[in-house]
Amino acid sequence: MEGSLTLQFECQRGCTKCCQTEGYVYITEKDLVRIAKFLKMKPAEFEERYVYRTKHLLRLRKPGGGKQCHFLKDGFGCTIHPVNPVQCRLYPFWPELVESRKEWKREARRCPGIGKGELIQIGDALEKSGEMRVAYPGIYE
Ligand code: SF4
Ligand code: SF4
Repeated sequence: MEGSLTLQFECQRGCTKCCQTEGYVYITEKDLVRIAKFLKMKPAEFEERYVYRTKHLLRLRKPGGGKQCHFLKDGFGCTIHPVNPVQCRLYPFWPELVESRKEWKREARRCPGIGKGELIQIGDALEKSGEMRVAYPGIYE
């Protein structure tokens, strides 16, 4: 990010705003296998029930009723947290946010953790965002 060597971020306890934001949760093939195992399901069974597969991407199906994710439980948070998808684990260190000061600041309207807590070196933030590019070539290629 030009002109700034650090970003500030700390996820806020009890917050689940990013899990309720309108959008898709993309997963990797490894996520699919790990989440299925965590839920004690076969990968094929998990995929049939929870995943929408296109030629280049996999994404979680939405539960309907305006909800964004099957795995968000009211008053608890993410029920698959130990194995949550790459994009959830890395948020808000996504390339489109980390690489633009303007977008990072704008995202603070959605994420109350932006601008709070510890300072993160831009190099570390870019390293994390690089994981996103590797995980989702169908989005970032
Ligand atoms: S919106 Fe930000 S602060 Fe809230 S849960 Fe998501 S990452 Fe954490
Ligand atoms: S998988 Fe978990 S962290 Fe990701 S959007 Fe769903 S509830 Fe949130």
